[in-house]
Amino acid sequence: MRIVVGLVFIVGLAACSGSDVEQSNLPDVEWPNYGLNQGETRYSDLADINETNIGQLGLAWSFELNTQRGVETTPLVVGGTMYATAPWSVVHALDAATGEARWTYDPKVDRQWGRWACCDVVNRGAAIDGDRLFIGALDGRLIALDRHTGNELWSVQTTPTDKPYTITGAPRVAGNKVVIGNGGAEYGVRGYVTAYDVATGEQIWRFYTVPGNPESPLEHPDLELALPTWSGGKWWEVGGGGTAWDGMAYDPALNIVYIGVGNGSPWSRYVRSPGGGDNLFLASILAINAETGRLVWHYQTTPGDNWDYTATQHIMLADVDIDGETRQVLLQAPKNGFLYMLDRATGELLSATPYVAMNWASHVDVETGRPVEIVDGNYANDPKKVSPGPQGGHNWQPMSFSEKTNLLYLPAHDTGMWYSNEADFEHNPRGWNLAMDLDGTEGLGEEDPVEFRGHLLAWDPVAGHPVWQKRFAGHWNGGVLSTAGGLVFQGTADGNFTAYRDTDGEQLWQVHSTTGIFAPPVTYRIGGEQYIVVAAGIGGGGMGGEMKGAMINDYHNEGRLLAFKLGGTGSVPQSAERVMIQPDLPEQMTSADDIAQGKSLYREYCAWCHGGNAESGLLHPDLRYLTQDKFSLFKEIVVDGAYVSRGMPSFADVLSADDALAIRGFVLDRAIALRDGADD
Ligand code: CA
Repeated sequence: MRIVVGLVFIVGLAACSGSDVEQSNLPDVEWPNYGLNQGETRYSDLADINETNIGQLGLAWSFELNTQRGVETTPLVVGGTMYATAPWSVVHALDAATGEARWTYDPKVDRQWGRWACCDVVNRGAAIDGDRLFIGALDGRLIALDRHTGNELWSVQTTPTDKPYTITGAPRVAGNKVVIGNGGAEYGVRGYVTAYDVATGEQIWRFYTVPGNPESPLEHPDLELALPTWSGGKWWEVGGGGTAWDGMAYDPALNIVYIGVGNGSPWSRYVRSPGGGDNLFLASILAINAETGRLVWHYQTTPGDNWDYTATQHIMLADVDIDGETRQVLLQAPKNGFLYMLDRATGELLSATPYVAMNWASHVDVETGRPVEIVDGNYANDPKKVSPGPQGGHNWQPMSFSEKTNLLYLPAHDTGMWYSNEADFEHNPRGWNLAMDLDGTEGLGEEDPVEFRGHLLAWDPVAGHPVWQKRFAGHWNGGVLSTAGGLVFQGTADGNFTAYRDTDGEQLWQVHSTTGIFAPPVTYRIGGEQYIVVAAGIGGGGMGGEMKGAMINDYHNEGRLLAFKLGGTGSVPQSAERVMIQPDLPEQMTSADDIAQGKSLYREYCAWCHGGNAESGLLHPDLRYLTQDKFSLFKEIVVDGAYVSRGMPSFADVLSADDALAIRGFVLDRAIALRDGADD
């Protein structure tokens, strides 16, 4: 007790005097792994910043990422250098104490490839092993850099370049291997993870998460388990899905790599596997032997996934006390709304508890380990409003598990969507492949809207209930950090960055940024001073119209790193104001029929970035505000790729000049509606 008091005293004194004599005795503490430690608990032992002094927490420095695209990075801190990834897979190395730039690495991803990123051109982080830093590039490359210089050591293409694969997640190092997955299930791909030699980039093993064409030989014996669980469809033509785009963890004692596997491709199982079946290993947690690449155990969270219920969410390894016994567990809150606790050595289900509202299943049967589906989730014959929706009850935003409170801090959200089966679905290799009749659900949402709400839940995973919670106006918010200082940090879409008391959720500190915050905070100590760093910059999935009013719209989405320390005196930089003035519009010359056709094409190719009804948020231009010049260049931009370098891909492979003019007609119609006050 005396020691703890003494430490608090020294930090308090130094913060007041500015002296670093006493402080420099404190050892440096870094953030070497994506999830801080191998268990990825995102709980730091640092307690220099705590309830007694958090009032002195102020800005130490900030660093401009020079982007207005989505920011989801967890910066690493090793050897006094911070490594923060940015949109388009750029890596910034900077002095972690001062924010001074050291080097920048840009893999120069072809901007056309942004077309295959469902949820923006984000990057969530890097991995470090010794002098090497590994980064997954959006276009499917895995790249090793010299972390001191930023020079490329090796680069491998981990995905076929003729298929819509992307990488947005952080690689993980497992012994002498670096493991990487991929994304793309909304467009139609077959998921897998691959392990490469850290020194050479040579491929060591690859694990496909779903079977390919049954007429071809199985790539590895574990697929013998999976193949009989698919039936009746030609899933391999679309790809089947099962992409592992985010959650992974490595347990060195068990030598197991845990992989979170994504949703089916297409989404509708009535189309994907009409004969039924669980469709292994979709929506599963896989335990894979790091040495051999063979399956140790698997647990499927959503058998026969039908709702985009990925289990790619944060996989956390923790030791918890259950009935007086310490159990090595794995915790995951996948999109489907159940929080799972498994024995991570055996895969035994210990508990599965709903953490958000849901109507697709009543409960998980702990004997069988299977969810019990209810009719409300069955949209085979008529549309159903299902919760959670495709954004899930929890998404990529990392959780945190405090060893101090034994609570899991979970950024959860209530979501829902009308699902409607597209019985006459046909695979489009150059577009979306959901097998969802979204036109068939038009208008239904207005009759019975789903309430979208965000929560920060402090959850007792053993007792299976929340201890406290915070509710937010917007459902989509930031990842979480907890510390031995008794603090829980989280940013929100409204630009607030807040510290709560870990035991009861009382707000202890808050700072406001004019850029919204989704990325998870990190903490470290250098030169005797503890820093809290978070990246501001919204983006990625989950930014639909439901976020209206809950996120910053009056300022541009300027991505930057914000570093705080005790006694910091800086001010959080202001982003530039966003002034929305509609220019004069050209005359509408497109026929009603062509506008209707343009609307349909817009939905297929444009809506995911520019908004379902051409009302875009911060990341992409709101097309209702196009100038006359841009209306006259519409075909050049959409078809000829005039703005590829700015991140607007060409659609020449799927859209003709006439198609572009039809889309232009629809966009102009929407702009006229705005001008005439028919829109808000
Ligand atoms: Ca998905």
